[in-house]
Amino acid sequence: MDSQTVTRFPPSPSGYLHLGGARTALFNWLYARHTGGRFVLRVEDTDVSRSTKESVAAILEALEWLGIDWDEGPYFQSQRFDVYKAYINRLLASGNAYYCTCSAERLEKVRQEAMQSGGKPKYDGNCREKGLEWREGAVVRFKAPLTGTTLVSDRIRGHIAFDNTELDDFIIQRSDGTPTYNLAVVVDDITMNINTIIRGDDHLNNTPKQIQLYEALGCEVPCFAHVPMVLGPDKTRLSKRHGAMSVTAYRDMGYHPEAMVNYLVRLGWSHGDQEFFTRDELVEKFNLEHVGRSAGVFDQEKLLALNAEHIRAASNEALAERLIPFLSEKGIEAAPGDYLYDVIETIKNRSKTFVEMAEAAAFYFVEHVTYEEKAASKFLKPAILAPLKEITEALEQTEGLDQETLEPIFQRVMDAHGLKLGKIAQPMRVALTGKTFSPGIFEMIRVLGKAAVVSRLKDAIGYIESHHLTIS
Ligand code: GLU
Repeated sequence: MDSQTVTRFPPSPSGYLHLGGARTALFNWLYARHTGGRFVLRVEDTDVSRSTKESVAAILEALEWLGIDWDEGPYFQSQRFDVYKAYINRLLASGNAYYCTCSAERLEKVRQEAMQSGGKPKYDGNCREKGLEWREGAVVRFKAPLTGTTLVSDRIRGHIAFDNTELDDFIIQRSDGTPTYNLAVVVDDITMNINTIIRGDDHLNNTPKQIQLYEALGCEVPCFAHVPMVLGPDKTRLSKRHGAMSVTAYRDMGYHPEAMVNYLVRLGWSHGDQEFFTRDELVEKFNLEHVGRSAGVFDQEKLLALNAEHIRAASNEALAERLIPFLSEKGIEAAPGDYLYDVIETIKNRSKTFVEMAEAAAFYFVEHVTYEEKAASKFLKPAILAPLKEITEALEQTEGLDQETLEPIFQRVMDAHGLKLGKIAQPMRVALTGKTFSPGIFEMIRVLGKAAVVSRLKDAIGYIESHHLTIS
């Protein structure tokens, strides 16, 4: 089926998957999913000095975390040298390429001369018509058209005409026999039936060369869409200076992959004013028409706010799965189940990341609460001892743990001591959690259950008594 969209993501494995790369991957993936097409993953590892296995693994791990699945691949360019060779031979045989034996010194001289006369440094075509045979040290050059223009019809940028006199006979095979980037990419895209290429506009200058190769090979030129780069808040190209660049660093900081996906897609694509998207909505709505021509600006605060929103929107069950590793990093072994889901229900609206959520959840899983010093000295004081004891006794007697049952009990005890009901909230909070910020008292009581609440209150009573004794 020719009409099926086939997109690709071809990372060079010389580091981690960075935010810009992830956005490119997402655009290609979404476009394939939106159109019911296919998405191909290809590892561009021809530069053996810079490519590593660790980097390949890191990139695949990041894609998986983002939920970007591929229908084909990963293919590895390093395993396809014979395919490139065959295409280079084809270009040589059809007269669209030739061997060049110009020395480095000669090329440097030509370059210098061009610069001095104010021209663009380019190959002067010295070997173009010589009909040379292969010899040690020879490169293969593409015989590029000398006149006319090469037109790039870009889905985002419109038509861009490149004057062929500005381009030159670029190298397609190095002297060591390896193909160059432009050749390998075109051969791969042809043989993998790629018909839609969405990539960063840093590649725009390669596109006319690639189009010339397609034409020389008699192959159909794919559809191109060059996406503006992602910028940092200071409007320079996004880099480490602007914060973490690697996708998995965001995973480790407690970001939800759905928020990451949502945010990255919005860096360049829009759908009216809508900011929050589920994955299904993105698949349904993503198109190339609404990819903007101006660069997206990465704003970590916005990403964080969106993350909080995705956490609020997710089910407790789904959140539990993501939260468990963060809890276990704190030494808390929690299992999926009603207790954990109930815990999450009380904290999901107040956690912007899973790191914060694990921090907020920790008190639910301890045997004995550790008090923050300030909190304890301010709220666990002798004046509250008697009411706390009475409330504890009353709790031991009651069946229901709902607010309707508990509030009148608390009220009665506090009235009897001539204290306002509100006066018990902070001491209770410190007793149950060790801190002065927490979910609502009644929510926590319900989730912790009677035994844990009574035990924590008794601990607090003991703390006040011992504290009181030592100071009296
Ligand atoms: N491997 C190239 C890169 O990582 C991508 C080339 C392309 O999209 O054509 O920038």
